Order: sequence, then structure tokens, then C-alpha cells
Amino acid sequence: MTRRGFEEVIAIHDRHSGLEAFLAIHDTSRGPAFGGIRRWAYRNEREALMDCLRLSQAMSRKCALAGLQAGGAKVVLLDRDGLDLEAAYRHIGRVVERMAGRFYTGPDMGTGESELQWLAEETRYATRPDPEGPGMLAESTAEGVFRGAEAALVHLDGEAAWGKRRVVVQGLGAVGARLAERLLEHGVTVLGADIDEDRAQKVSSELEIELVDPSDAVDIPCDVYSPCGLGGAVHDVSIERLRCRVIAGGANNVLARRAHGDALHDRDILYAPDFVINSGALIRGSLFHMTGERESLENIGARVGRTLREVFEQSKTLEESPEKVAVRIADERIERFRSGT
Ligand code: NAD
Repeated sequence: MTRRGFEEVIAIHDRHSGLEAFLAIHDTSRGPAFGGIRRWAYRNEREALMDCLRLSQAMSRKCALAGLQAGGAKVVLLDRDGLDLEAAYRHIGRVVERMAGRFYTGPDMGTGESELQWLAEETRYATRPDPEGPGMLAESTAEGVFRGAEAALVHLDGEAAWGKRRVVVQGLGAVGARLAERLLEHGVTVLGADIDEDRAQKVSSELEIELVDPSDAVDIPCDVYSPCGLGGAVHDVSIERLRCRVIAGGANNVLARRAHGDALHDRDILYAPDFVINSGALIRGSLFHMTGERESLENIGARVGRTLREVFEQSKTLEESPEKVAVRIADERIERFRSGT
């Protein structure tokens, strides 16, 4: 905790609902902390705590790079048999309410619409899933990914030239399907893959895109490979198989290990760091909470594109991977906020 400079870490236990959770606030030196609630079947408390610390620091980096007057936090909830879900989320909602706006929470894996509704009934500081909330979160993420991929192509070729591009979208969920739609509007040849066959068929017939086998998606020659499923798409095996020029997707934790960022750089594959390119929903949600305004998709896309251009340019000048550059810019900014300079 001290090594990575956390402000506060809270263990939450409620014997009535069976709730066990951790809440970590990494940074509020620039503004309130933002971070969703992840519910997962962690093997033990230690694993849950470590995940909570890692994710909340990642949120600080995401906020710093997105230029938000905000910091990072996270809640992780240990999923267990017999957990009273509604009572557990309501309990967390009351904890968040008592923090009086120092921490805002929202969706993550395991926290969807009904959980958000329970939270919203207990606290003003949670993302509402109804029309009173910020809305269009997945659309915001997809727009950021679209503009981020565009920034990558312009960086490589001086133009996006979408009409002659081929993009593989891995994962056709809320973000992936919307991204595919945006790409089609620009004349891109889109190939899609999803491990959920029904989902894949539905999106493919709605958008008229070609489907590929999810286990082969990584082998397909393309301009942009876009991981929009679960994390860990780039790992020791897949990295050798990739035949793309750019990796730009909405998924969190695209790299199984940080070192894969350098390996992609060595292979001349331009990687748009996940915590930069997928920040659209955070931008939309946090600005809504802090100002009451709903940032337009256009502005969100422009912000993400601008930040990525800066990262790619520094990466070229310094001959360092975009992943390393993005982490360094973020950590330097956080240090500056903390020291007040
Ligand atoms: P979702 O659950 O709606 O969709 C994910 C889809 O990916 C599902 O259809 C699933 O079947 C598929 N999938 C999972 N693993 C796959 C694999 N290996 N190959 C092919 N398909 C696979 O989720 P979402 O909201 O679209 O989010 C997608 C990713 O983006 C997640 O990693 C999420 O954490 C991240 N993300 C989402 C947002 C947002 O605004 N929704 C914001 C930031 C990051």
C-alpha cells in the first residue's frame, strides 16, 4: 500500500448479507476518485485485495491521461455461494454515501443494471443505469476506440483511409458491436468473432459482417486487431501469431503481461494502450458526475484521439513502447498533482 501510495484502503464486512469487499482509494489529489465495483469469485481475501489495489492505481493512471480532474479507486467484492446480492450492494451503497462525494462508483465485471439500481437507491455517488444517469457508456468507449484506431493509422500512414482497411473485432458485445457499426459507416471491411455463438450470429445478421472462428481471429491479416472481449488477448502464444499493424480495442488488460507492450513494439505492431483508448465511458461518467453535463461522443472521441497521438509521438521520438510512454506520462502527472506543482 505504501509503495504505490494509496490514500486509503477499507475492508468491508457485513455478516447479514455475507458481504466481503475491499475499497481502495488511490488518489484524490486532483478531484474525487472514480472506480467501478468488480464482483468475482476470488480464491481468497489476499487475491481480492491485490486486484483491488492494482485496479485502483490503474484508474488513477486512466484519469490522469484522460486529463480529468479526478483520481482512481476501486471496489472488489468476493463472490460467494449464499451471498445476498441485493443486501450486499445496498450495504456498499451506504458506505459510498458516507464518503460524501470523495468516491464515485459504477459498473465493472459482475456489476450490471440491477446492481447499479440498488446502489443508486442508497447513494447519490453511483452511476445510475436509468435516464437520469450519464447514459451511452459503451457508445462512449466505442467512439474512443474508433478515434484511437484512427489516430494509430494516421500515425503510421499519414491518413486513416478507412475505405481500404480491414479490421478484426474480437468480442461483439456492447462495445465491440457498436465499434463494428462505426467502422462500417466508414466503409471498413469488418470481420467479427465472439465465443458466444448466439451473440455472434445476432450481430453478424444485424450488421451484415463476416464472422470468423474466435480461436483463429488472431491469425487473420488485417490493419487493426481490436480486442473487445475479456482481457489477456495478447500473451506469449498469440503475440507470435498476430498479423496486424495496429492493436486498438476496448478491452481492459489487453496485455497478459506489461512486457508484452515492448514485445509488440519490437515486432513493429503499434499498440494503443488499453487504459488510454478505452477511457470513453470514464470520461462521460466522471464529467457527468462532476459537472452535470453529458459530454458528446464527438468530444470524447477527439479527446482520446488527441491523447493517443501524444503517446505515439513520444513513443517514436524516444524509441520506447507506447505502453511504457503512457504509464510514464500518467505517473509523472499523478506525482505533480500530489506535490502540487
Ligand atoms: P460485453 O460483456 O457486453 O461483451 C463482451 C463480449 O466479448 C461478449 O459477447 C463475450 O462473449 C465476448 N468475448 C469474451 N471473450 C472473448 C474471446 N476470447 N473471443 C471472442 N469473444 C469474446 O462487454 P463490453 O461492455 O462490450 O466490454 C468489453 C470489454 O471492454 C471488457 O473487457 C470491458 O472490461 C472493457 N471496457 C468496457 C467499457 C464499457 O463502456 N462497456 C469501458 C471500458 C472497458
